[in-house]
Amino acid sequence: MTTTQPQANEPANPLLGPWATPHDSPPFAAIRPEHFRPAFDRAMADHVAEVEAIAATPDSPSFNNTIAALERSGQPLTRVSAVFRALAGAHTNDALMAIERDMAPLLAAHRNRIHLHDGLYARIKALWDRRAELGLTGEQARVLERYAVTFRRAGAGLPQATRARIAAIGERLAELGTAFSQNVLADEQAYALVLEGEADMAGLSEGARAAAKAAAEERGLPGKHAITLARSSVEPFLQSSARRDLREKTYAAWIARGQSGGVTDNRAIIAETLALRSERAKLLGYPTFAHYRLEDAMAKTPEAVAALLDGVWAKARVRAEEDRDALQALAQAEGGNFALAAWDWRYYAEKLRKARCDIDAAELAPYLALENMISAAFDVAHRLFGLSFREVHDVPVWHPDVRVWEVSGPQGRLEGLFFGDYFARSSKRSGAWMTTLRTQDKLAQDKLDGEVRPLVVNVMNFAKASSGEPVLLSFDDARTLFHEFGHALHALLSDVTFPMISCTNVPTDFVELPSQLYEHWLEEPEVLRRFARHCRTGAPMPEDLLRRLIAARTFNQGFATVEYVGSAFVDLEFHRQAEVGPDPAAFEAGVLERIGMPAEIGMRHRSPHFLHVFAGGGYAAGYYSYMWSEVLDADTFEAFRETGDAFDPATAARLRDAILSAGGSRDAEELYKAFRGRLPTPDALMRKRGLAEAAG
Ligand SMILES: [Zn+2]
Repeated sequence: MTTTQPQANEPANPLLGPWATPHDSPPFAAIRPEHFRPAFDRAMADHVAEVEAIAATPDSPSFNNTIAALERSGQPLTRVSAVFRALAGAHTNDALMAIERDMAPLLAAHRNRIHLHDGLYARIKALWDRRAELGLTGEQARVLERYAVTFRRAGAGLPQATRARIAAIGERLAELGTAFSQNVLADEQAYALVLEGEADMAGLSEGARAAAKAAAEERGLPGKHAITLARSSVEPFLQSSARRDLREKTYAAWIARGQSGGVTDNRAIIAETLALRSERAKLLGYPTFAHYRLEDAMAKTPEAVAALLDGVWAKARVRAEEDRDALQALAQAEGGNFALAAWDWRYYAEKLRKARCDIDAAELAPYLALENMISAAFDVAHRLFGLSFREVHDVPVWHPDVRVWEVSGPQGRLEGLFFGDYFARSSKRSGAWMTTLRTQDKLAQDKLDGEVRPLVVNVMNFAKASSGEPVLLSFDDARTLFHEFGHALHALLSDVTFPMISCTNVPTDFVELPSQLYEHWLEEPEVLRRFARHCRTGAPMPEDLLRRLIAARTFNQGFATVEYVGSAFVDLEFHRQAEVGPDPAAFEAGVLERIGMPAEIGMRHRSPHFLHVFAGGGYAAGYYSYMWSEVLDADTFEAFRETGDAFDPATAARLRDAILSAGGSRDAEELYKAFRGRLPTPDALMRKRGLAEAAG
């Protein structure tokens, strides 16, 4: 790996390396916010110099002097950006947020400078036009294709004035995305509902109390109980609080994030973002942003996405409406003289789940200790892929809560490092995600330093327990842990040569396959028998509870499907209209009315805090991706089922070779067919969600 050396008169900047740390991991203890700006400036300048040199190469373009050279360029910038991204998401502060605001448009301009570089594109285009004669390997051909597509889709080759406008739009969108994300975080940091005494805690489960106590501690209110707007705080409260007024109050604050009316209000940002995305798509020759975005996804067209969502929607809504009537009846039977509202659903659904499936969150909780669920996720990876995990304490981390494991393969080779950052805190944005501090590649294999192994991070927002108490998860939390760990495996098992196609560099509607697939193993009885052990006694989960838990897996799936698909429809419609207009909230309401969204179910993410879509835009016109990938993951898991063994070694080996280690080395459909021999239909998904038999 190349490193940028400091000038003699300049104090060493730890971000620019070299890093004398175990596994060349970032020296977090030495990194301060003021290091980032000079490191970014230097790394960007070096990258530009490298790229200009490639463009100015006197030799005619070859794969090696152009594409491979580009793949080798910009390594310091990649490193600095990865460290910054990790901190900005998981442990930010005012200084880092200011740098994030400053850097977003500068980094967008830097990307534009490369993607819209005439001389560079001419070389890539010349190679692409002669691709059949170049004698490329499969991987090389794919990397060349990705360069040609990426540059074309960025606007390369268009007239100068058009490129200038596209560049300006990109820079403005980067500013808007950063502001959107920071506004949501600000609204989340600003809110805490302090529960005063037992009356405010009526009905609260042990888990919800522990979460509220930990949240208060984290906010500097030791000994108190508080509800914050983190999902891990709000959801247990909405599920168990008997105080309807407080449920309403909390729910209202939760869905108002990004829509406070003050300086953190995101509605104008949404309107401007949508208008700019639409304008850019038209400049690039597409009727709408959705057409532009989906062309490079597995789905290919907005119509294909709409067809999938429509197909699921009707049955899910029927199921949700049946459940609503049952919940309403339950509320009335308890003397509740009101029409069920969105802040009531989770509360009565818990009661209905108890009545129908005989499952009680409080009965389950002691069996889902965080420590045991981490062990379960590791053990499944051991059984499927022969991976072993050893916790280490000498690798620098960004917060004392972060843990690190060395991951080794079946022959003992080091596959990478896995970082787990599990607990909610106010310096962390909400949600759960996987990120990398370094991705796998084999560019250096011709040198003595060999292959670059990945540094992979999982970030969660679990409620921390009070000191001395075990951390207990809900089943949804445990599923999130398995989900993100599935993404981590995709990065850890990556085995390709070029960064462009390494790890999770695949379409977003394919990238959720490894993660959602991994969730299936959490529900395997033999996994639960071994790891779902009582946090105090160590006793395994009683067989009868285990049976009830698995039988309850399709409970409330109408609700889960409707809240998700409602958000996916709004995202799609936002981006497949030529114009949305100045009032995105009214547009959102219009979409929900048209699809017949039940009033008692809120969207999974309302637009003003829809980070997937408006913070950077990775999932813009792409929120459907989870369901598209679910078609794949349900069908993939059935491949295991068909063998009669959820850990079938041959199927696991095929999964590893065809999908998990392959990165983006082939088109996503080809990757899937290499595993399954055919493409999937939505049937397995409908069975998984228990919607196959629903009317509608
Ligand atoms: Zn995911």
